[in-house]
Amino acid sequence: MIELPEANTLARQIEETLIKKTIKSVLVASSPHKFAWYHGDPTQYPDRLKGKSILSAEAAGGMVEIKLNHAHLLFSDGINLRFHQAGDPVPSKHQLLLSFTDGSALSASVQMYGGLYCWIDGDPFDNAYYLAAKEKPSPFNDEAFDEAYFLQILTNEKTMNLNLKAALATQQRIPGLGNGVLQDILWQAKLSPHCKVNTLSAEETYTLFLSLKQTLAEMTHLGGRDTEKDLFGKPGGYKVIMSSKSEGTPCPECGAPIVKEAYLGGSVYYCKECQRS
Ligand SMILES: [Zn+2]
Repeated sequence: MIELPEANTLARQIEETLIKKTIKSVLVASSPHKFAWYHGDPTQYPDRLKGKSILSAEAAGGMVEIKLNHAHLLFSDGINLRFHQAGDPVPSKHQLLLSFTDGSALSASVQMYGGLYCWIDGDPFDNAYYLAAKEKPSPFNDEAFDEAYFLQILTNEKTMNLNLKAALATQQRIPGLGNGVLQDILWQAKLSPHCKVNTLSAEETYTLFLSLKQTLAEMTHLGGRDTEKDLFGKPGGYKVIMSSKSEGTPCPECGAPIVKEAYLGGSVYYCKECQRS
């Protein structure tokens, strides 16, 4: 699943590749998928999109938003977005295919589940994940997402009694920060996913804040994690330390085997020696 670093990478690549391209044709829901979500009736998407040009793209948490003249396209974190040069084959299964006047195309396909939302200016779009991502400061915004803001998240009465996985990677407290990127953030901060927020010392909190900022920045700078693919189908350049491939391999810091546990709806990977619980 893409998260903040990959959503930012995809938005950048869309801006570098698709700006000013005009949509010639739209194929929507051509491969039926139980867990593909649309905004309103997908058969209206061609009318909303045909003849429009790509103006800009940006990440909204772990989602990618494309702005067109008087229309918006939003892809949630379970969507594979791929660019295809003119003449290149497009995937046989997809839930949205935009063909441009120059012969190139953008395909969107659902992995397990995901949203492909299209709406026109003035049409109310009230997706809670999207609104939260637009409203809350991004960790890449150093002025709004500063240490004081981070402390505010952790000292909230709903958060302070939680463990770090629940506090940081659930409930959209930090939109786009999910279980995937959390593993390396916690490893760098030497804290386990089980560690309770209310046991953190001031120093540990600051280390965690720095790790969150630096890890996300590095992942984004390198074009996302190598466990995810970009707009061109290539893995990102950030080598994930704590991933499904790490189970049982030696911790790069101390050599102890990395542990995998099912925890709060998803697997966590951590080092029992380096990361305190
Ligand atoms: Zn270790």
